[in-house]
Amino acid sequence: MEKTFVDGLRDVFQSGRSRPLKYRKQQLRALLQLMTERQAEIEEALKQDLNRSSYNSSLFELTPIENDIKLAECEMAAWAAPQTVRKNFNSALDDVYIKPEPLGVVLIIGTWNYPWAMIFQPLIGAIAAGNAAVVKPSELSEHSAKLMKELLPLYLDKEMYKVVTGGVPETQELLKQRFDHIFYTGSSTVGKAVMEAAARHLTPVTLELGGKSPCFIDKNCDIAVACRRITWGKFANCGQTCIAPDYILCEPSIQDRIVEEIQKTLLEFYQMDPKSSPDYCRIINTRHFDRVLSLMNECTVALGGESDRSQCYIAPTVLRDVLPHFKIMQEEIFGPLLPVVTVNGLSEAIQFINARDKPLALYVFSSDKTVIKRMLTETSSGGVTVNDVLMHYTVDSLPFGGVGNSGMGRYHGKHTFDQLSHHRSCLIKSFALESLNDARYPPLTAARLSKAKFFLGHRLCLCDGVCVWAAVATLIALGLLAALVVVLKQTPA
Ligand code: NAD
Repeated sequence: MEKTFVDGLRDVFQSGRSRPLKYRKQQLRALLQLMTERQAEIEEALKQDLNRSSYNSSLFELTPIENDIKLAECEMAAWAAPQTVRKNFNSALDDVYIKPEPLGVVLIIGTWNYPWAMIFQPLIGAIAAGNAAVVKPSELSEHSAKLMKELLPLYLDKEMYKVVTGGVPETQELLKQRFDHIFYTGSSTVGKAVMEAAARHLTPVTLELGGKSPCFIDKNCDIAVACRRITWGKFANCGQTCIAPDYILCEPSIQDRIVEEIQKTLLEFYQMDPKSSPDYCRIINTRHFDRVLSLMNECTVALGGESDRSQCYIAPTVLRDVLPHFKIMQEEIFGPLLPVVTVNGLSEAIQFINARDKPLALYVFSSDKTVIKRMLTETSSGGVTVNDVLMHYTVDSLPFGGVGNSGMGRYHGKHTFDQLSHHRSCLIKSFALESLNDARYPPLTAARLSKAKFFLGHRLCLCDGVCVWAAVATLIALGLLAALVVVLKQTPA
């Protein structure tokens, strides 16, 4: 059978070149060098794709990538080291550990909203874990995709890491091949197609999907600060952020106040005319522009609402008294529209959230600990930030990922390394003390069975020194006994 593109890449992986930590570090350093040397070109591509300013690109995309590279470089040796685990009596004298090892060839498919981070963050984990990788940036952020294809082979080992560009047909063609892991970021609809394609080869998947992330504002909170933080998180990147607050839930009594505070903040952030603000982005293309605009149809505009198709510009917009059956509440907005839905208190807000798909992120603003506690215990979501938005994403020790319809698997920091490693169970025994194994060998008797049960069922409790020493003493005593039996058997009568 003819070798596929991925088979060729697997051969390179199997040469073992990517396994030594030295090689992985070299590749990570080269990626960091790419980020620093080519920063201006990357920022220019993002400007052309999304009208993103260099400050915003640095804050939202380039700095997190650089931090991830530095973290992986610094921590990789510890992440890749064998981890000893608790033993039972049966394995007390053996080496028992978990060894992270590379999976093989990983396919990384990214989105257009943060085109570099959505590819490079998983790629950093793939390199750190010793894998080969194929990356497929989104065709919609075309300037970034073109630049990535040009730059990556100039810095990384081009036999081990490949860039494939193209749209749906190219991605579908890729998905026919057998990868060892697929890391997909994008919509839930395409996520299902990716998982179906992966199932044909029993390839495991990470699906970083989206959905509607709710934001509950309790009347007992600092509404001005809450609105300032929400306005930042919602309208950054023109609302095209997977964990942007999708809609606000609040009691009717504070709706006017919320609109007022958001208005004040918008004025401060983007001045009178957001269209001419260097900090305000654009919608990625006219297809998404038309989609986002059509979501406004039934709604009452409280703030904004202006648009310009020729520039894919939609003003930061707040919609008031939005009803649950409106079209805008049926799909992820992924644009600069912020609906306010009113509910009668916390219990109704919880019911509202639980009646829908589990979100990627959940936000709650409250000064009342019991409100926060109830939100956290009575709902579910991929991640949650209390009294702010987006910020859980920035804590690299927290696993980032969805639950239910918002995805499966997790990444960031060590979690990316773990996600793209196989955690191999290793038990290394010696040939000594064979007589201890009699308990599991036929002919089985009640005495042997109870001995086997004892050895298999009792753990060495590493936190309790007494317990460990008791186990070791028992094993030594049993070993001596076994040796004595052997010696006596061999002694002529
Ligand atoms: P998308 O699903 O349209 O595209 C993502 C990738 O899938 C692209 O590379 C594209 O080429 C490919 N693709 C598109 N259609 C395909 C098909 N039919 N078959 C095979 N491949 C296909 O998603 P998008 O519009 O680029 O991104 C928006 C979605 O991604 C939103 O739902 C957002 O919430 C989500 N998202 C999630 C995260 C996260 O970390 N969880 C991050 C960013 C975006």
